[in-house]
Amino acid sequence: MTAPRFRIAPSPTGFFHVGGARTALYNWALAKRLGGTFVLRIEDTDEERNRPEWNQGIIDALAWIGISADDPAFEGPYFQSHYAAEHVAAGVRLFDAGHAYYCDLTSEQVQERSKASGKPGYDGHSRDRGLEPGPGRVLRFRVPDGSTVVHDAVRGEVTFDNATIEDFVLLRGNGSPMFLLANVVDDMLMRISHVIRAEEHLPNTPKQQMLWEALGHAAPEWAHVPLLVNEQRKKISKRRDKVALEQYRDEGYLPGAMVNYLMTLGWAPKGDTEIVPWATIESEFRLEDVTHSPAFFDLKKLAAFNGEYIRAMPVEEFSAACEPWLAQWRDAHPEAVWNQEWWTTMAALVQTRVVTLAEAPAMVDFLFTPAPELDPASVAKVTSPQAESVLRASAEAFASCAWSADAIKVAFEVVAEAHGLKPGKAQAPVRVAVTGRTVGPPLLESMELLGRDRILGRIDALRERIAVT
Ligand code: GLU
Repeated sequence: MTAPRFRIAPSPTGFFHVGGARTALYNWALAKRLGGTFVLRIEDTDEERNRPEWNQGIIDALAWIGISADDPAFEGPYFQSHYAAEHVAAGVRLFDAGHAYYCDLTSEQVQERSKASGKPGYDGHSRDRGLEPGPGRVLRFRVPDGSTVVHDAVRGEVTFDNATIEDFVLLRGNGSPMFLLANVVDDMLMRISHVIRAEEHLPNTPKQQMLWEALGHAAPEWAHVPLLVNEQRKKISKRRDKVALEQYRDEGYLPGAMVNYLMTLGWAPKGDTEIVPWATIESEFRLEDVTHSPAFFDLKKLAAFNGEYIRAMPVEEFSAACEPWLAQWRDAHPEAVWNQEWWTTMAALVQTRVVTLAEAPAMVDFLFTPAPELDPASVAKVTSPQAESVLRASAEAFASCAWSADAIKVAFEVVAEAHGLKPGKAQAPVRVAVTGRTVGPPLLESMELLGRDRILGRIDALRERIAVT
C-alpha cells in the first residue's frame, strides 16, 4: 500500500481560523500515525487576498500547534496560483471528452431564465448547442443523470440526486478556473489520498467526485468534520466570535492545551479524561470516531484545559513562558523596578492562580511599581469604618511583628479576632492597600517581599485616600 497523503488547503485570510487548525490537526495526527504525508497547499487565487505575510502567517500558526514545516512528514507549501495552466488544461480535457460544454449566457441571463421558469439555478441551456470556446463563454460541467454516492469516513454514505446539481462552471468567461476545478486538479497533482475538511464543503463533494471520475481517477477518501458552533449554536465566525488562533496564542494559551482542546471538538480519546498528550492523540485518533453533530467551541472548557496545562508545567518552564508578557508589561511601565528574584519567588504561586500566561503580570505588577494602581471598585469595597479600623490595627500590628509570611499571618489573625472577622475578611482592606485590588495574588508572600516599610506606607496611603473620599 502506498503511504497516504493528506492535505489542508487554506485560503489566506490574514488569520488562521481555529476550525482550520482543528482540521489541520486531524490531518496531521493521521499523517503521523500512518507514516503518511501532510501537504500544505495555499489556495491563493483570490488576487486581493494574496499577501506574502499572510502565507507566512499560515506557516507560523501551524508551527505553533506543532505542525512544523521542518518535519519530514510536512510537504509544501504549494501555491494554487502556480498551477493555473494545469487547471485550464483539465477544463479543456473535460471539454474535449464531452464532459463539459461552453455557454454564452451571462449570469444575469441565467438568473432571468431561472426566474421565468421558476426553477433555481442554471437550466442547461447550452448543453446541446455545440458552442466553441470564445470570449465571455464559461465552461460548464455536464452533470450526468442519476445520483452520486459519496463515501464519507465521518458520515458514512451520503447520496446526492444529480438532478439537484446544476451544470456548474469550471472556467469563467475570462478563462480563469473556478475553485471546484482548481481544488480537484491540485489534489490530483499532489496525489492526495484523503480529503479531510470542514463540513461546509460537503455540498461541493459530489461535484468534485464527478470531476475526479470524469478526469479518469478514483476519488480520494472523503471526511467532513463537524461544524464548530458558539453558545447560541451558531457557526463560529469572525464577526461574532474569537476565531483567530493567533489571538489565543497572544493571550497566553499554551499550544499543548489548544491542540488537545481542538482535537476534542468532535472526537474524544479513550479513557475518562480528555486531557491527554499528543502521543496518545496520535495513536488513538480515528476518523471513524469523529461525530457528525456540531461541536461547541466552549471558551470556558478551553480555559479549563489551559489552566490544567499551566499547572502541569515545571515551575521554571512556567516562569520562562510568562516572560514575553512580563516584558510587555515592563515596556509599558518604565517607572517600574523589576526584580527577577521576586518574580522567581512568586512564580509558583502565580502558576496556581492564572488561566492564561497573559494574566501573569497583573498578579505581580504591584511588587515592582512605586505604588499599586488602586482599582476604584476595590477601594469602594473597603471604605467602611470597620475597614478603616482594620487598616489601623493592621498597621499597628505590622509595625512590631517579625517580618515573614507566617508572622504576618498571625498578626492578621489577631486583628481579625479583635474585629470579630474571619481572617480572609480582615485581609481584604490590606490587600487593596498592598496590591490595589480585592482579588488576586498571594498576599502574605507579597508582603514579605515588599518589606515592612513599604507595606506601612501603602496602608497609610489607602487610609488617606479613604479619608478624603
Ligand atoms: N480553500 C478552501 C477553504 O479554505 C479549501 C477547501 C478544501 O479543503 O478542499 O475552505
